Amino acid sequence: MSISIRSLNKIYPNGNHALNNINMEIPTGMFGLLGPNGAGKSTLMRILVALMEPTSGEVDVFGYNLLKERKQVRGILGYLPQDFRFFAKYKTYEFLDYAARLSGMHNGRKRRQAVDEMLEMVGLFDVRERYASRLSGGMKRRLGIAQALIHNPRLIIVDEPTTGLDPEERIRFRNLLAKISEQNVTIILSTHIVGDISSTCNCMALMNKGEIAFFGSPEEMRREA
Ligand code: ADP
Ligand code: ADP
Repeated sequence: MSISIRSLNKIYPNGNHALNNINMEIPTGMFGLLGPNGAGKSTLMRILVALMEPTSGEVDVFGYNLLKERKQVRGILGYLPQDFRFFAKYKTYEFLDYAARLSGMHNGRKRRQAVDEMLEMVGLFDVRERYASRLSGGMKRRLGIAQALIHNPRLIIVDEPTTGLDPEERIRFRNLLAKISEQNVTIILSTHIVGDISSTCNCMALMNKGEIAFFGSPEEMRREA
């Protein structure tokens, strides 16, 4: 089990009940969270990465309590938010180097090696000198994944990463996630696109109006639908 969620609720200050008593055990591997806009996916993701506190409930991430052991949790997870932006003044490799520095890699030689390996892995080594803000949509998403992975987390959370990508970029991105998953990194992928999940995830949940409407394999969901 990677994440255990118990009786989780989120009520925004304006009264929006975005998460309504969520209970869920997320296995290791690649997990898909499917749901229409407004279902509560981003709210759940932001809670899981400790950017926002739930109104009530408990979350464990690889055995660490999210509310009480925030620092440990942050150390083992990476996050690619939906609205991830790159600072215009950084080149691709500089951006990743900066992320590596922030994560505590202080040895310059080791850091450069880690950055180069990561650029290679996500297929951006050839454009490493390009300003990150000038990359294509698909490349930006891959750089976002690289920054989420640079501190060697056990789990990454990616929020709607394929939105706005053309079909070719989308497939390339899915293949990258599959490759990362093979390296024993658990991936939680939030999306409103069924194809993102059915092609890559063994286990998934369908979210609607702040509740888990289905939990199981993509095949089971297709049979039930
Ligand atoms: P999704 O990511 O699935 O589109 P969200 O988690 O963004 O869903 O939103 C779930 C519900 O919570 C929606 O009704 C949305 O309008 C509401 N919501 C999201 N963020 C806020 C906020 N900051 N304040 C109030 N309501 C919010
Ligand atoms: P998402 O696709 O993640 O739901 P949105 O585009 O709906 O994102 O929301 C963008 C931002 O506005 C988010 O930071 C979200 O928290 C906030 N937001 C969404 N719905 C509401 C709402 N009803 N009231 C206040 N803020 C909201």
